[in-house]
Amino acid sequence: MAADADILHASRERIEQIQLEGIQKTVLDVYEHIPFYKKSFDEAGFDPRSVKSLDDVARIPFVQKQDLRDAYPYGMLAVPLKDVREIHMSSGTTGIATVGAYTEHDLKIWGECFSRAVDFAHGDENDVMQICYGYGLFTGGLGAHYGSISAGCATIPISAGNTERQIRILREMGPTILACTPSYAMHIADTAIEMGLDPARDFSLRAGIHGAEPFSDNFRRDLERKLGYRVLDIYGLTETMGPGVAIECWEQQGLHIAEDHFYPEIINPETGEVLPDGEWGELVITTLDREASPVVRYRTRDITRIIPGECPCGRTHRRIDRIHGRTDDMLIIRGVNVFPSQIEDVMKTFPEMSSWYQIEVDTDHRSLDIVTLKAEPNPNVDLDSIADIDRLQKRISAALKAALSVGVKVKLVEPKSIPRSEGKAKRIVDLRKEL
Ligand code: ADP
Ligand code: ZN
Repeated sequence: MAADADILHASRERIEQIQLEGIQKTVLDVYEHIPFYKKSFDEAGFDPRSVKSLDDVARIPFVQKQDLRDAYPYGMLAVPLKDVREIHMSSGTTGIATVGAYTEHDLKIWGECFSRAVDFAHGDENDVMQICYGYGLFTGGLGAHYGSISAGCATIPISAGNTERQIRILREMGPTILACTPSYAMHIADTAIEMGLDPARDFSLRAGIHGAEPFSDNFRRDLERKLGYRVLDIYGLTETMGPGVAIECWEQQGLHIAEDHFYPEIINPETGEVLPDGEWGELVITTLDREASPVVRYRTRDITRIIPGECPCGRTHRRIDRIHGRTDDMLIIRGVNVFPSQIEDVMKTFPEMSSWYQIEVDTDHRSLDIVTLKAEPNPNVDLDSIADIDRLQKRISAALKAALSVGVKVKLVEPKSIPRSEGKAKRIVDLRKEL
């Protein structure tokens, strides 16, 4: 941990040196070992030996999710299979899955990166981590597992599902850290409350390490109140490693990127131009020391920004803001761009509302998008007359108009009618595609 503490406080010069060397090595590596990059670099007239400073990175061509899909299964491997120890795949949320492979070295780095979440949560080997991210091809479970082991925590590898059993273990074994998707944490909390428990009192949780999907600040506050702990956001994606690429510290003022292993850029998704710190755009990542599945300028499609300035925690790795969502999930309602997490944030200002919702997108006869927020009120809320329901629906709709300038129809639905998820929640139901 001492070496890690050192690198997390390294000077900008030292970090930039590590990044430049990592990029120089990685561009040569992919050029020599992965035919896609050779072709792409040659076509763009980019010489992989020409990177002399970080400013040169903007000249390197991007790689996209589709390129990784086209190379399925092993076309993007930079090492022979005999050097691969583990293979994962993305969840396939937006289409065909992509493959991420790991050498022994890659697995070690992954564990180290995720283990920083324990440090950021002011934890150590005295902590007990209950991991209810799904184990398997999804990177959530094993990423958290390697992180927990690397941090020296007692690790409970329960995986996702069987919520009542999760709750029993939370009560009986006293885990202090919970690692899972935020929507599953909410499901666990709501189920425990329904069983007559007070999780803030009956569990021993201190911190939640939650990621793999967007969640709003108000959703987070609700979780923290219900479970009596502090929630740290963790970001990652299979294409660059899995969870641990960026992690929020105790300050909750953005996620520190593991800048000793990843080089981040924010680009304008339309033009590809690199944007200055502070501006919102698409996150692009280059791996600095990945052996099996390196990526150079991978377009994540995730929308965030680099937060200018230093974090009050004193760590020097730059921070990204909490992810709004991915470009695929962005809704364009009468010309206004909006992400489900922003709608969620407004909805969660209403104490009557639970955290369970789905956003339905349909087309009207003039081919304009119509967006309906279907949401469950809290089970204890008394909405006995149609007039009450109608009034609440209208109030939420008006709040959405005021906060986001979007016209969203709100429809309250029966408790438990929105499907619960053990992994990533499905927030958008696109009826347009089903036509
Ligand atoms: P898939 O792209 O198929 O869902 P992954 O399981 O690799 O595959 O998920 C990575 C994606 O999950 C990211 O690109 C991002 O869109 C989303 N994601 C991961 N962590 C977070 C987070 N902390 N906040 C918001 N979105 C996240
Ligand atoms: Zn910090």
